Amino acid sequence: MRWSQALIPTLREAPREAEIPSHNLMLRAGMMRRLAAGVYSYLPLGWRAIRKVEQIVREELDRVGCQEILMSVISPAELWRESGRWDVYGKELMRLKDRHDREFALGPTHEEIVTDIVRAEVRSYRELPTVLYQIQVKFRDEIRPRFGVMRCREFSMMDAYSFHVDRDSLDEWYGIMHEAYERIFTRCGLEFKPVLADSGAIGGKTTHEFMVLADSGESVVLNCPKESCGYAATDETAERYLTASSSGEDPKSMTEVDTPNARTIEEVCALLNVGPDRLVKTLLYKTDGELVAALIPGDRELNEAKFRKVLGSANVEMADADAIRDLTGADVGFSGPVGLSEIELIADKSIETMTNVVTGANKDDTHLLNVNVGRDFQVSRYEDLVTVIPGDLCRECRSPLSSYRGIEVGQIFKLGTKYSESMHATFMDASGDEKPFVMGCYGIGTTRTVAAAIEQHHDDAGIIWPVSLAPYHALVLPVTMKNSRIVEASDSLYEQLTDLGVEVLYDDRDERAGVKFKDGDLIGIPFRICVGEKNVKKGLVEVRERRDGRTELVPIEDAAQYVQQRL
Ligand code: ATP
Ligand code: MG
Repeated sequence: MRWSQALIPTLREAPREAEIPSHNLMLRAGMMRRLAAGVYSYLPLGWRAIRKVEQIVREELDRVGCQEILMSVISPAELWRESGRWDVYGKELMRLKDRHDREFALGPTHEEIVTDIVRAEVRSYRELPTVLYQIQVKFRDEIRPRFGVMRCREFSMMDAYSFHVDRDSLDEWYGIMHEAYERIFTRCGLEFKPVLADSGAIGGKTTHEFMVLADSGESVVLNCPKESCGYAATDETAERYLTASSSGEDPKSMTEVDTPNARTIEEVCALLNVGPDRLVKTLLYKTDGELVAALIPGDRELNEAKFRKVLGSANVEMADADAIRDLTGADVGFSGPVGLSEIELIADKSIETMTNVVTGANKDDTHLLNVNVGRDFQVSRYEDLVTVIPGDLCRECRSPLSSYRGIEVGQIFKLGTKYSESMHATFMDASGDEKPFVMGCYGIGTTRTVAAAIEQHHDDAGIIWPVSLAPYHALVLPVTMKNSRIVEASDSLYEQLTDLGVEVLYDDRDERAGVKFKDGDLIGIPFRICVGEKNVKKGLVEVRERRDGRTELVPIEDAAQYVQQRL
């Protein structure tokens, strides 16, 4: 491609909307432009990089026997009602109506649609297992689209679905897909780790997320530093080994204390001169129209992902001040479990062994001292409700956990029969019995993967593409277009490289050399072949590798072959 004819609108300045390096660089390198919050148009360089990821994904999935299909972006509400997700998915599902007032969803993922296809077309165990995938645009009305293509409302994803006769076959394929993912992300030049994760609204139990290690990542992984253990899980799902939190005290008699204006944990602790671990927080939530309380130690955070799972609903939000006052008769900050018998109280497991704790009194400006579970209030169940933090003990080996940040680029799930049962998708097994398909599903964010690669591969000057994702492999850079010898040498290099199958960008713009060098570094092409005045006279060109800045002088006639070999 000749740059003079290309649409590569590079920018000198960092755009104000950009919060992290990949977002900044994708805009500055002219890879994409924003159309609306979380919605982007991809320009030639961006689209070429995305297609590189897609091609790697295709090759690795085809190799293990997956089949590519293409389903519709738009799908009828009836299918989503069959699975129950029309209601469960909440506001993230983009919905629309046609001219006859029929309801549709813009696909955020395609379990319902693929299950509908397979239940109609696959009848017998002889046709199983079968794995179908597509690479397609997805829609999710994210509450906070941000970081460029990291969290979009329209993004591109590979989604695969596997159908099996039984659990064993699913387990085997889960392993096959796990390995295919490892090959895909390795080929993309990424440093990544598979970790245990939360299955969220999609259902199923076992699931791993593939995390690209990056400080700018939105995900937090708790990991066990002990090598022989290796436990690693996202903060939405990580569990801890629980040591009894009992103070060893006998239960004392419960008393009321005045705590004027002390609403927060810090204020109550300061006033009563106790540590936050002696408090129990009563957090009131609304789920599908009902109020429910979560009880957790004062020094911990409620993990909403775990809580949603415990409640079996995606619609979980904090109760508003009015609802809290109606229920407790007091302001937010003075809620407590004692006397709160109309609603379900769910407590973190650690509450079970706590004695003589401080709680709100359901009365303004008042708390209770020496509250004891079992004696003063009852809980309906003990669950794991808190977010695990570094220093908590590993659930597997009891070593203190540490943590790192990552970007989730892919996920694999064992769905089981969640969708096949709710949607009555069955096959005949070997003995003629009708059985629901056992399913798995697998996703890779292809646009997010491009951004993740840039997070890991850039410097102050710009992107440093791994060869596998680079929009072009080589950049031919004549320092001027006004010297016929330079232009002739550059033209011929461009042709030779093209003939050798190297993807080459030819910067034939009538620009100053400095501008071309800067743009070249910004867009991050792995090899730059600079055709300069002095060298050309000696029959040489300078080949520079973007990754380490190493340069080499090579005879003009060998340069194309040399670059091809280095690639
Ligand atoms: P997240 O927790 O980041 O919202 P998710 O668990 O909802 O992700 P999946 O449903 O597993 O994501 O989707 C598969 C893949 O699609 C993810 O691993 C991620 O790479 C990508 N992805 C998900 N949501 C977005 C988004 N809003 N923008 C860009 N890519 C996304
Ligand atoms: Mg999500």
